[in-house]
Amino acid sequence: MKLVIFDLDDTLYDKTKQVGLDVPDNYDLIQDITPFPGIIELIKSSNFIPAIVTKGNSDYQSTKIKNLNLDFIKDVLIVNTNEEKKQSFQKLIRKYNPDKTFVVGDRPEGEIYQGNKLSLETVRVLTGRYANIKPKNDFEKAKFEIKNVVEIKELI
Ligand SMILES: [Mg+2]
Repeated sequence: MKLVIFDLDDTLYDKTKQVGLDVPDNYDLIQDITPFPGIIELIKSSNFIPAIVTKGNSDYQSTKIKNLNLDFIKDVLIVNTNEEKKQSFQKLIRKYNPDKTFVVGDRPEGEIYQGNKLSLETVRVLTGRYANIKPKNDFEKAKFEIKNVVEIKELI
């Protein structure tokens, strides 16, 4: 059994394009957000356990997940810091005891760093504002890099 932990912003939908950069939380802006094409179908038709770990305001992140029609994903952990992302990964691993755990996200210093600290299968999606950021150290270097989140199907 495989566990796939997704980041939300700029991983499952194009936050940079659809909401903007450094925009304060604004419910009007997230009303019509849409996931990257094909990702919902991919998650629903695959055998892995999907989870979302995302940083931000709990109600705001939950509203995005609902508006993206991703609320069929049962394990959603909303945290305030990158350190808590790591703790959330550990919590999910304890819950499911998977053979393999993938962490999929766009930020080298965020989920990629934390996933590598736990020796998980890290997958960097080159989308949004961080697409051209170079890793600052080995922990920020993802094991895999993909251009579009649906490419995870080739890795899992
Ligand atoms: Mg992100």
